[in-house]
Amino acid sequence: MEPRYSDLQACAVSPTSPLVIVDVDEVLAQFMRGFGTFVERHGFELRVDRFALFQNIYRPGETEHIDLIAGKALFDDFFRDGADVLAPAEGAADALADLSTRAEVVILTNAPEHGRQARIQWLKTHGFDYPLIINSGLKGPPAADLAGRTTGRAVFIDDLLPQLDSVAEKAPDVGRFQMVSDERLRPLAPSAPDRHVRIDEWSRLKTAIEERLFQ
Ligand SMILES: [Mg+2]
Repeated sequence: MEPRYSDLQACAVSPTSPLVIVDVDEVLAQFMRGFGTFVERHGFELRVDRFALFQNIYRPGETEHIDLIAGKALFDDFFRDGADVLAPAEGAADALADLSTRAEVVILTNAPEHGRQARIQWLKTHGFDYPLIINSGLKGPPAADLAGRTTGRAVFIDDLLPQLDSVAEKAPDVGRFQMVSDERLRPLAPSAPDRHVRIDEWSRLKTAIEERLFQ
């Protein structure tokens, strides 16, 4: 599906401001931890032994993961009902608050449309009160569109290698940073440090973003 043009259109970017385009899950939110708590609530368990989602959900005691349709149903429910167990990534709100005094922040998340209200509320509750674009598919095109509206420098932060590669292809001038907030996922997450800077802690990430945007 194409990015929702109305979201992208409605997002105002001032014409000279530096721009921070930032993902939510595993960047601002501890998605895997929250999703694990959520699936336990439903009688399953999440085993973080590979960089995957549905293939990590098991019935207790079993060695085969649950089928992908059941996993997808839990995933969809989580976006609607799971906000209470979703914790923010450490240091993310403070880092963005500081960056937002000198740059514009836009949140670019891939989430199901039925999770929109819960996601907006969660972001506000945790101090991420910035424009939100709900996307589906690759983020290179919307990132290129946003970055093209300002003469300021832009950066993009995401946990997923395909998204970083997409931005590299469609908006090569945008600085790219990979961040994986879950310590258990860090060693499992595919990365390409020769193409995209990898920094998993917000304090150090903020410094690197500042160097890219302001120096
Ligand atoms: Mg993510």
